[in-house]
Amino acid sequence: MYEGKAKQIYSTDDPNQVLMKYKDEATAFDGLKKGIIENKGIVNNRVSNLLMGLLEKEGIETHLVRQIDERNVLVKNLRIIPVEVVVRNLIAGSLAKRVGKEEGMPLPATIIELYYKNDELHDPMINEYHARVLGWATDEQLKEMHSQAERINEILKKFFDSIGIILVDFKLEFGLYQGRVILGDEISPDTCRLWDKESLEKLDKDRFRRDLGKEAEAYQEVVRRIETAVAAVNG
Ligand code: UDP
Repeated sequence: MYEGKAKQIYSTDDPNQVLMKYKDEATAFDGLKKGIIENKGIVNNRVSNLLMGLLEKEGIETHLVRQIDERNVLVKNLRIIPVEVVVRNLIAGSLAKRVGKEEGMPLPATIIELYYKNDELHDPMINEYHARVLGWATDEQLKEMHSQAERINEILKKFFDSIGIILVDFKLEFGLYQGRVILGDEISPDTCRLWDKESLEKLDKDRFRRDLGKEAEAYQEVVRRIETAVAAVNG
């Protein structure tokens, strides 16, 4: 049905469900930098499904139906809202540049930003007026996205902290399913900034973006810690 930078989407016999396949291809800077992170697709599929499972347990509805195999997951067929939601706990990345502050400064409260999901326009930052007036999301949907993003942040911040990782920032995508706004896309080291609590070592896509090396190892470390924690909870 569709091929994106990191995933392919296939239709299924059920129009309400699609198959999402994770690839190892990595891109950064609007596709200008391209590469492969070995087994990234396998790690991101696993990480995203485990995290979404965790969110479901806390009452957040996600698109997750069930993981099919290493790289494939069955998900609800959402109509994606073209507004990306970025949640920030510490200053990093584009925010550090925009406001001229050092990366790593903690924020006294969460910052939520909206971006228009449009590759040609390089995902420009927008505000709620743009989203509402230009018809990308209703006021009600935006409120729902904000409140879910805040809750997701609280749940994930606590979880990552318990496995020795600082959740610096991350990006979410929501979509419509049977009239409800629910979480879609992925939550993985591709879409989060994850720093080791002790060493502050980066365990995310910044290793690729910034040529820090050992990308595959960092991704493996994240999935290893998450799997250990989830296994402990499930006995
Ligand atoms: N992010 C993402 N997809 C995007 C843009 C950002 O997953 O198209 C994630 C990114 O990995 C980081 C957070 O959103 O965890 C904030 O990204 P930022 O705005 O700092 O942009 P960057 O400098 O990473 O491009």
